[in-house]
Amino acid sequence: ARKFFVGGNWKCNGTTEEVKKIVTTLNEAEVPSEDVVEVVVSPPFVFLNLVKSLLRSDFHVAAQNCWVRKGGAFTGEVSAEMLVNLNIPWVIIGHSERRALLNESNEFVGDKVAYALSQGLEVIACIGETLEQRESGSTMAVVAAQTKAIADKVTNWENVVLAYEPVWAIGTGKVATPAQAQEVHCELRKWLRDNVGAGVAASTRIIYGGSVNGANCKELAAQPDVDGFLVGGASLKPEFIDIIKAAT
Ligand code: 13P
Repeated sequence: ARKFFVGGNWKCNGTTEEVKKIVTTLNEAEVPSEDVVEVVVSPPFVFLNLVKSLLRSDFHVAAQNCWVRKGGAFTGEVSAEMLVNLNIPWVIIGHSERRALLNESNEFVGDKVAYALSQGLEVIACIGETLEQRESGSTMAVVAAQTKAIADKVTNWENVVLAYEPVWAIGTGKVATPAQAQEVHCELRKWLRDNVGAGVAASTRIIYGGSVNGANCKELAAQPDVDGFLVGGASLKPEFIDIIKAAT
């Protein structure tokens, strides 16, 4: 069975005081044990150490990005080695905001995922179609190409969580319906089975992201191929606790 996974992507938000407040709320929450739900929160780089030092030990932290290769003369970047050195276990790679605003291509994202894995990080790899692509009927072709660019470079999927985040649902309040999410997740699992292997398809968590909140999470979590969530806006609020409990 695939362990339910709930990630909180804080994006480029927060002050020291706000971060401390969110962590306090998380630390006080009564949630299912780590054997049942894996919880990972992803603050901006500058708060990673603070959050790690304050956060309960059954929750984990993720960086929101890392450099594509070994560190060096790359001003403004943070390397996978640095995250490992700080004992940051997870990294989010290929978020649609970086794909769209910073022009990260499928190939670049694939390279980043492979390099981060090679350094021992666990990776939340993000994919998803735009509204235009959905309306033109190319959703599956788009997410398959994004997944292929990762699969081309990755041999061991054990430390990969695949996050399906339709761009039209991110930050818009327009959540995918449970049926829409299930359809794509099921197709993605088939794609993994046909192109990577049955074992990887059966064991890889495919999580959904895009306007997930305390009210819509339960019905989404009940879908057979939805193995958890990557939550943006609602991960900064107390309702994140309800989302952690969505599968139980
Ligand atoms: P929202 O939950 O704010 O729509 O963001 C989703 C997301 O991008 C998580 O990575």
